[in-house]
Amino acid sequence: MDGYDYIIVGAGSAGCVLANRLSTDPAIRVLLLEAGPADNSLLIRMPGAVGLVTHSSRFSWGYETEPQEHMNNRRILATRGRTLDGSSSINGMVYIRGHAYDYDRWAEDPGLFHWPYAHVLPYFKRAQNHEYGADDYRGGDGPLRVSRVDTGLWPARPRNPRRSSPCRRPRNLGSRAAYRSRSTPPSRAKSDRRSRP
Ligand SMILES: Cc1cc2nc3c(=O)[nH]c(=O)nc-3n(C[C@H](O)[C@H](O)[C@H](O)COP(=O)(O)OP(=O)(O)OC[C@H]3O[C@@H](n4cnc5c(N)ncnc54)[C@H](O)[C@@H]3O)c2cc1C
Repeated sequence: MDGYDYIIVGAGSAGCVLANRLSTDPAIRVLLLEAGPADNSLLIRMPGAVGLVTHSSRFSWGYETEPQEHMNNRRILATRGRTLDGSSSINGMVYIRGHAYDYDRWAEDPGLFHWPYAHVLPYFKRAQNHEYGADDYRGGDGPLRVSRVDTGLWPARPRNPRRSSPCRRPRNLGSRAAYRSRSTPPSRAKSDRRSRP
């Protein structure tokens, strides 16, 4: 069979998920194009090397803002990933959702009526594979593995069910999306056909 049914430009977070979902059907041919190199570098696998990859011309586009008038005309680094899995290959691995109130407020806009928290919550849960398993707010068998941080910087604390509650203020940086780890690199997490978001 010649040609493709879908061509996706950019194998970043969104592109990989889209390609994964579309290719569920073996009859559908998907071409996923990525401008950057493969993500098999040790620097990408090593969470502590995030500062190196974000400044690397190999894995980052090196974008800068226009001179910022109110910042003494400085240009600010606007890092974007340039590799398989895009920015999620070079990001901080922090897992945090928006506050339920924000989603509900957006949904008041007639064009965003399908964005209330109750509507997006099942998608968050479907994507998540939390180390504590599923509950009312967490998912337990999705492709994105999430664990509590235990690095000494953010010491792991005992399980608190309120941590993923929609009413909690979004200031908890204590959960890690482990897709930069050796055990669950993002491209493999996103292409895991056993559990799709
Ligand atoms: C430094 C940094 C830290 C971050 N930390 C976190 C965090 O801790 N937690 C969190 O949840 N989010 C974090 N983010 C945000 C998160 O990583 C991004 O929001 C998310 O990856 C964006 O996904 P995307 O698919 O829109 O774009 P990307 O993942 O950036 O994917 C775009 C892809 O398209 C490719 N591309 C671009 N142009 C072309 C072209 N012409 N042809 C082919 N390919 C092309 C790029 O190379 C790239 O691979 C961080 C982002 C950065 C940059």
